[in-house]
Amino acid sequence: MRVGVLSVQGAFAEMAAYWRARGADVFEIRQRSDLDRGMDVLALPGGESTVQGKLLGELGLFDPLKAKIEGGLTVFATCAGLILLAEKIDDPGRSDDTRPERWFGVLPVAVRRNAYGRQLGSFRTVGTFDGKSNVPMTFIRAPAITAILSPEVEVLSEFNGQPTAVRWRNITAFTWHPELGPA
Ligand code: GLN
Repeated sequence: MRVGVLSVQGAFAEMAAYWRARGADVFEIRQRSDLDRGMDVLALPGGESTVQGKLLGELGLFDPLKAKIEGGLTVFATCAGLILLAEKIDDPGRSDDTRPERWFGVLPVAVRRNAYGRQLGSFRTVGTFDGKSNVPMTFIRAPAITAILSPEVEVLSEFNGQPTAVRWRNITAFTWHPELGPA
């Protein structure tokens, strides 16, 4: 399996390691020509969605990636990656927090960035994911999924009554970091 990891900013090395450990043939997506290599899975890592969104535009990656995602390419996304996929980004209402300049907007969920606060924003818990119990879940300045906007969205995990991982068509997206795994 060939996995392209978006590698313009953030935790792309961890995402690449996660897929390599699962036997995938991994390459980094840094510029438009990298997309010519072809992939079975597009992996969107954590990081800063505002910076990633800006760089995607500047590097000419935004439009071709959006077309691939809409065309049914399998997508695996965490945290900032989920934010870039969400149909709706709740207005944070804080002057120090902004929406990315642009985001893909294809996944029918609403998200709120940095939903768990700045100081206590990062934590670990253990929960049930896709019917599997005792799965370690690491949240790093994580977003929250505040609304599900289509009955086709399947909720794979929850924390405090809110969805934390979802599957919809070709997209699986997490507010936590599956690539960081057990402590
Ligand atoms: N807080 C980041 C954002 O808003 C996401 C954090 C992460 O990807 N670990 O983009």
